[in-house]
Amino acid sequence: MMGRGLLGIEDLERADIETILETAERMQEVGRRDVKKVPTLRGRTIVNLFFEPSTRTRTSFEIAGKRLSADVVNFTPASSSLTKAETILDTAKNLDAMAPDAVVVRHAVAGVPKRIADELGAPVINAGDGAHEHPTQALLDLLTVREEKGRIDGLTVTIIGDVAHSRVARSDIYAFRKMGAEVRLAAPPTMLPADVESLGVKGFTSLREAIDGADVVMALRIQFERLAGALFPSVREYSATFGVDRAKLRYAKDDAIVMHPGPVNRGVELSHDLADHRPSVILDQVRNGVAIRMAVLYLLAGRTRVEREEE
Ligand code: ASP
Repeated sequence: MMGRGLLGIEDLERADIETILETAERMQEVGRRDVKKVPTLRGRTIVNLFFEPSTRTRTSFEIAGKRLSADVVNFTPASSSLTKAETILDTAKNLDAMAPDAVVVRHAVAGVPKRIADELGAPVINAGDGAHEHPTQALLDLLTVREEKGRIDGLTVTIIGDVAHSRVARSDIYAFRKMGAEVRLAAPPTMLPADVESLGVKGFTSLREAIDGADVVMALRIQFERLAGALFPSVREYSATFGVDRAKLRYAKDDAIVMHPGPVNRGVELSHDLADHRPSVILDQVRNGVAIRMAVLYLLAGRTRVEREEE
């Protein structure tokens, strides 16, 4: 269904997304048990290859693999032969020679997971590449919205902030549009991507207009490590204009939910109060991240190498 890996939401059909969400809904049940383990991926090996820092994504891929009884290996670049100038591609090929059943890749440069996937026998899962895509984040966002609202079709989703640098925004735009939602973006003009129109979304520089009547309000982290700090005059001005707090939330629907992919710059994108309390669902997003990653690993690493090669 997802070919030989999961590189981006752009490549998926709506039916693929439905399959992943339905599988994840079954996986949620495992997370509610006392003994959170099923034998589904026993004997399979998953390699986590994270070249960029991560808290939620790396940990939840590891927990997801372990809940399915796979052996999970975490590769740490700082203590690897990358420090001896081995290239990323050579590193990946060497790991592949040890016959893993899935490789999860995060890298600061867009396109690296695809480049690695082109060379590897194992399916590659993109865990975030530069400002390109972060497909499992968008899938867990869909799962969380469906859990809260019972549907995605027909909802209005407003994504606020550093859209231009955000792989989360790009994947969410594809994901929510494919599932029938209206997507609006709100950001200072310097943070709106150039291709707003071709993405099929509406761009606003007024938060109030963008949030008006929204069902889902999603704040994005300012990507300071991608030099986003140069795109607005000051953090204080940004948070006064685009920071989400209860006063601004009044323009959204009464039952609107607030989301954030984490890590939160508290008091910048989101008020402290909303970072911790309903209607924000940030920790539900994290909880659902495990179920989504279990579903993706199950769908991709569940087949043997021979089965994959025969396809
Ligand atoms: N954790 C998400 C990512 O890696 C969001 C963020 O860092 O802002 O893209």
